[in-house]
Amino acid sequence: MFDTLKSRIYQGKQFIKDIPNAPMREQFRGFPIIKDTEGENWQNCAKACPTGALKLNPLSIDMGKCTFCGACQNACKNRGITFSNFYKLTASKRENLIITEDMSAEEFEKTAIEVKKEIISIFSKSLKLRQVSAAGCNGCEMELNACSNVNFDMGRFGIDFVASPRHADGIVITGPISKNMAFALEDCYKSVPNPKLVILCGACAISGGIFTNSTEIDREFLEKYPIDLYIPGCPVHPLTFINGILGYIRNKH
Ligand code: SF4
Ligand code: SF4
Repeated sequence: MFDTLKSRIYQGKQFIKDIPNAPMREQFRGFPIIKDTEGENWQNCAKACPTGALKLNPLSIDMGKCTFCGACQNACKNRGITFSNFYKLTASKRENLIITEDMSAEEFEKTAIEVKKEIISIFSKSLKLRQVSAAGCNGCEMELNACSNVNFDMGRFGIDFVASPRHADGIVITGPISKNMAFALEDCYKSVPNPKLVILCGACAISGGIFTNSTEIDREFLEKYPIDLYIPGCPVHPLTFINGILGYIRNKH
């Protein structure tokens, strides 16, 4: 028993105390910074992008398509594109994920999530979510699992994943939505009682990601039902996910 106590004291507090202001390691690729630097070869930068997230006219990066692979940063020899470690990337409108030249992370954060009074009054104290992996690679799914571990401890905010859609207030979709998951996804959505949220998590769910041109995906669901939140990443970082949800249900950034 003394050994257990000793190791507990040695380990100290393992949870991140202040989730909205948690530090992020420097190497993390988060919010992209675009600058039309002198002599930059933008054609080369765009050619390097595997998902078409980087567009030249106008110069922009669509974070909903971006896998944060860093290929454009390497191809832009004059530092036209760099990535900051700012991780609060969530938006409540799809178009808010498009980052243009000289846009700053602070600017993005101020307008990215539209706060709605009714959402705060219904979900701010408790939000139960059903996760649907609609052909994800398991990267986003693993990070979502991590949200509930002792380190990130999302449960302290009343946000939890539940096993049954009937116990849920909304669904979190990962993966590009394959044809063989389309029915199960819609079935799950219909089983969640109203009012309910739909959250798209990761490049695959938001835009199809690297599977955009696959003949095996069926994204009709997204045209039929309203989407509340778009959470970028490949995979999505737990801090991005938790802070995105808190921003929407508590107006807490
Ligand atoms: S980091 Fe994003 S924009 Fe840059 S090459 Fe990769 S997918 Fe394209
Ligand atoms: S967004 Fe990336 S990590 Fe997430 S499911 Fe798709 S390929 Fe996997």
